Amino acid sequence: MATRRIKIANFFIGTGEPVAIQTMCATKTCDIEATAAMAQSLSDAGAALVRIAVDTDRDAEALAQIRRRTTAALSVDLQENYLLAEKIAPHVDKIRYNPGHLHHQRPEQPWEEKVRYLARVADDNNVALRVGVNCGSLSPASRAAIRGARLRDDRDSTRFDSLLKSAVDQTLFLDSIGFFRYCVSIKDSDPEVVIAVNRRFRRLRPEVPLHLGVTEAGLPPVGVMKSRHAMERLLSEGIGETLRVSLTVESDRKFEEVEAGKLILKNVAQGVIFDPAAEKYPALNIISCPSCSRVQNGAFVALARKVREATAPFADHRLTIAVMGCRVNGPGETDDADFGLWCGPQRVHLKKGSQELGSWPYDEILDVLLGRLEDYFNHN
Ligand code: SF4
Repeated sequence: MATRRIKIANFFIGTGEPVAIQTMCATKTCDIEATAAMAQSLSDAGAALVRIAVDTDRDAEALAQIRRRTTAALSVDLQENYLLAEKIAPHVDKIRYNPGHLHHQRPEQPWEEKVRYLARVADDNNVALRVGVNCGSLSPASRAAIRGARLRDDRDSTRFDSLLKSAVDQTLFLDSIGFFRYCVSIKDSDPEVVIAVNRRFRRLRPEVPLHLGVTEAGLPPVGVMKSRHAMERLLSEGIGETLRVSLTVESDRKFEEVEAGKLILKNVAQGVIFDPAAEKYPALNIISCPSCSRVQNGAFVALARKVREATAPFADHRLTIAVMGCRVNGPGETDDADFGLWCGPQRVHLKKGSQELGSWPYDEILDVLLGRLEDYFNHN
């Protein structure tokens, strides 16, 4: 069955259309010159759509200026502030909302009313929507259910069911109110989960276009491997109408996300499919966010690299360390890792599972982490 074709700016995504490569600016959105320049350079590098995060009224106001300074097709990430949609929509081509973030504003209001509002704003401004479901920011009820599961297998299956249900519920509601100009993404940091959940979604809602991504894929080259792992498999099965490779790299290297997207499309066209058995990952799994306008200290990317280098002696241990760039999503998105670091303006917070251990300056955190890892391995 063919997917719907939906219009974004001056192109379409859906069956019969080329797979569109997306990427995201990591500049401060209110820095108009830097953000417009980055959006343009990413578009020139081959991104069909460039996403920008918007948190504040000031960011939303900057969009009008950014739009005038670039020919890039623009998408906006609403993060927690869905009420900014009205200010944003006149200046962009697509709006991404995360169902798990809709509860932050007006928690007493049912999510259906918020989605109805977003669909109306999108319709009034001739823009598309993306329903962006992410393992790190599920609804509070889903998070509680995952935390309540005692065994890792139960946690994993609860997470999988929550991702799928959130996506399906949103699409059924959007269809019920007559809004069809949307696509869906269901992202997880585990490529195998991304494959399984997108396959299942495609069986349940075959008409809905899918945007593919592995969230927190992390530093290259492993970040590229994880993305190839999920996307080459799915695309070879005809699943996926747009994609984004998320890499933890500095702003001036964001074009590498576009290059990795092109590599994936070329491989699939030539019948090359990533084989995780042949191209082994290190047992120690470092997941890290791709950074965005919310990063509070540019040292975050370098820290992620230093964590990889400092933990090399433990590379054969099955353990997940998460490194996140901000205090907004960092605390939640490190919950599922064995150890998590989330980076504030001056200090880095360290967690063990969901337990906060404290915070340390950037130049001290590595020693603290290594000490905690030694303790962990001595007692496990
Ligand atoms: S965790 Fe990283 S990508 Fe996510 S909002 Fe924070 S800085 Fe941006």
